This record gives sequence, C-alpha cells and structure tokens, in this order.
Amino acid sequence: MRPDLASKYDLRVPRYTSYPTAPHFGPQVGAERYRDWLDGIDPFLPLSLYLHIAYCAEMCWFCGCHTKITRQYAPVADYMDCVWREMAMVADALPARMGVRHIHFGGGSPTILSPEDFVRTIDLIRDLYDVAPAAEIAVELDPRTADERYVEAMARAGVTRASIGVQDFDEKVQKAINRIQPYEVTERVIDWLRHFGVPEINIDLVYGLPFQTVDSLLDTVDRAVAFRPSRIALFGYAHVPWMKKHQRLIPDETLPDVPTRWAQYDRATARLEDHGYVQVGLDHFALPDDAMARALAENRLHRNFQGYTTDEAPVLLGFGASGIGSLPQGYVANEGAIHAYKDMIRAGHLATTRGVGLTDEDRLRRSLIERLMCDLSVDLEAVATSFGQSPDHFDAELPALAGLEADGMVIREGRRLRITTDGKPLVRAVAAVFDQYLRTGEQRHSKAV
Ligand code: SF4
Repeated sequence: MRPDLASKYDLRVPRYTSYPTAPHFGPQVGAERYRDWLDGIDPFLPLSLYLHIAYCAEMCWFCGCHTKITRQYAPVADYMDCVWREMAMVADALPARMGVRHIHFGGGSPTILSPEDFVRTIDLIRDLYDVAPAAEIAVELDPRTADERYVEAMARAGVTRASIGVQDFDEKVQKAINRIQPYEVTERVIDWLRHFGVPEINIDLVYGLPFQTVDSLLDTVDRAVAFRPSRIALFGYAHVPWMKKHQRLIPDETLPDVPTRWAQYDRATARLEDHGYVQVGLDHFALPDDAMARALAENRLHRNFQGYTTDEAPVLLGFGASGIGSLPQGYVANEGAIHAYKDMIRAGHLATTRGVGLTDEDRLRRSLIERLMCDLSVDLEAVATSFGQSPDHFDAELPALAGLEADGMVIREGRRLRITTDGKPLVRAVAAVFDQYLRTGEQRHSKAV
C-alpha cells in the first residue's frame, strides 16, 4: 500500500458482520416478535447455535467483546443456568425438533466454565436438537484458563475446533494490553488439544496493538505458524475508548500510527502467504486443505457475527447476554446487561430487546455486501437480477466509487467490481458505498485498517 494512501483512507466504517449493522437494531423487535419468527421458521432448515459466555477472569485492555470480570464461579454458574433455560425456551418456541450443523462457544471466555458445566451444556444441546454427526463444534479458548481437564472434557464432548487467543507473543505488548500469556502456556494447551484429539486448531492474532512493530508482529506470526494451525486470524485492533472505557488504559501514543498499521497488515499477510496459508477475505488465513480455503475457492464463504465462516445454516440462534441471532425474517439481539438478561429469563421471558426486520432491499444489499467482503469481487448486475431487480439497480451509486477507483483500490468493469491487492484492506469502505443506513457522522466505527 502506498504510504500517501494509508493516511488518506483512515476511514471509520462498519465491519459488516451483518446488514443492516447492529447500531441499526432497535426496540421494534422484542421477545414477542422473536417468538413469532421462531414459530414461523421452516422446520427443515438447519440451525447454527451461538452461545455467548459473558465472563472472563481478567480484563484485557484491548478487549472489544461483551464481557464481565469475575474471580468467582457462582455468577458464572448462575448465568449458565439462565443460558440452559433460554435454550429450552427457544427449542420450545420452534415449530419442531430441528437439526443443528454448527455450534460456536464465544465470549467472554468459554474456558471460564467448569468442565462439568461445559459438558452439561453440550449434552443439553444434544437433548434439545438433532446435532448432525459432522457438525462443527467450535470453542474460543483462552490458554490462561483452560487446564488439561477442560481440554479433555472438550474433546470428549465432541469439540471439532478450538480457536486459541494469542494476540501477540511479545512480552512488552502483552504487558501493555494486560494479557500476560507466556509462549509455553500456548504451547502446552496446543499439546493437550492434539493429545486428546481436537482435530482443528485456529490461532487468533491482532495487529495495531500498543508497542507492536512490524518486526515484532512478524516474529509472532512465525511463532504461530510453527504450530501449524489450520487457520490463523489476523484482526486489526479497534481502538474505541469512547465505547470501551477500559481501552483508555492504552495510551494513544503507544499505538502504531496509520502507516505502521498498514505496513503491519501488508507484511504479516505476505509472511503468512509465504508460509503456505491462503488469505480468506480480509483477515483469515487457512491451509489449502482447510474447509475455509475450500469454501473460498468454491464461492461458498459466508460472513456472520463471528466474521468469516464456512457456516451455511440460514438460521443462527444466539444465546446468552448480548447474543445475536439471524433468522430469515431479520436479526434479533438479547439484552446485554447480565443482570437484566438473567431477570428476564428467570421470569420465563425470552431476553430479546433489539432487532430489525429485513426488507427485500436489505436482503439484496446484504447479499451484495457479503459477496464483496468474502470474494473481494461482485457482479452487481447478477446480484440485482437474482433478487428480481433491474440490472441497473445500483448504477446511481457507482459514482461514489470514483475516488477509490482513481486510487487503484477497486477496478470496475461494467457492473463488476474487483478489489485490487492494494485495496483489500479497504473492502469495508467499498461495501459502505452500498450501505443505505450509513449517514456520515452518525456512527463512529473503528478504522478500516
Ligand atoms: S479473554 Fe477475550 S473476551 Fe476476555 S477480556 Fe480478554 S480479550 Fe476480552
């Protein structure tokens, strides 16, 4: 990326894990509407489940997740009791016992659960739903809280993929983000995962962290690659201290400037490709035989609230405080405050407090943005006509791409768009051109890179 463009495109745009994006969810969708939507789902559609475990043992200062810190297990046990009740209520509201193809434990820290509660949760899911034999069961794993007994329980329960949070191996960076995780701790947990037979391992890295240099990041990339995980995610740190107060503990002056962030992204991407990883979308890298690399090659890659995914299930049910779901009718989000979430569930109500119903125009634009984010190219005419619209449906918006085209970020051939290699980090900015909800200055988002 040319250094002059690095500063020019310090844009703040949504991450497009949904369309419309979460800031546009509102109180018009609550528990009653969610119940109606659940009841109206085609019982033959496969489901995907997301369980949000909203607790961590300690706050990492870079964290952008919805989590609460606890040193005791009682609040976690109490929370899980509510998640189990919620799962039963939702299963009851569905028109039939349905099949599940994908289960994701996110957070927070799923590894804060006791091994017994983790297994009990999986057992309950199997009681309530028909979990496909080949279902992916993925767990976000914090090596600092996962002990050997936990990893063994995960393997026994049928977990197929563990995503290990590493961020950076450099001690100075770890101190600056309040996440001390010696290399040996990560190494030990990977040994256990392989020993007990969890087949797929992901490693999550972050660039743009305090005190991170291009060289220190490349060193982290090399050390991560040495474990030969099937996937590596490389996310850009989103510094939003006006939204996440604990990020104020990271002084602005310790953060890499925009050109350095670009260089980190560029060089780390090239290094991962040198190591044989295939870039998938903006921030994922997969070994060529991994399901995500295959999905990319076959234009089957998708994007949901966890980012890039191979999950094709048309219904995603979210559980836990702040859990988000995606249904054919629209998006739903649970109450985020843990106490309020628990109170609603205990009172026998679903905890949905926000959401948005989809219009046909939303579905069309969602499809366009998903293809652009996943394939880094899109045929506007083909998308429009597949939704019964005229081929020129998006023509009026094309002039807004002129600046990005002139700078070589995107190439337009008729109604086909292709993001260039330089433009890859700016795919969100191209997607934003087609976002009808975006009004300049209305929302503050993280940097595009
Ligand atoms: S472990 Fe993960 S979710 Fe918990 S505070 Fe750290 S980054 Fe956030």
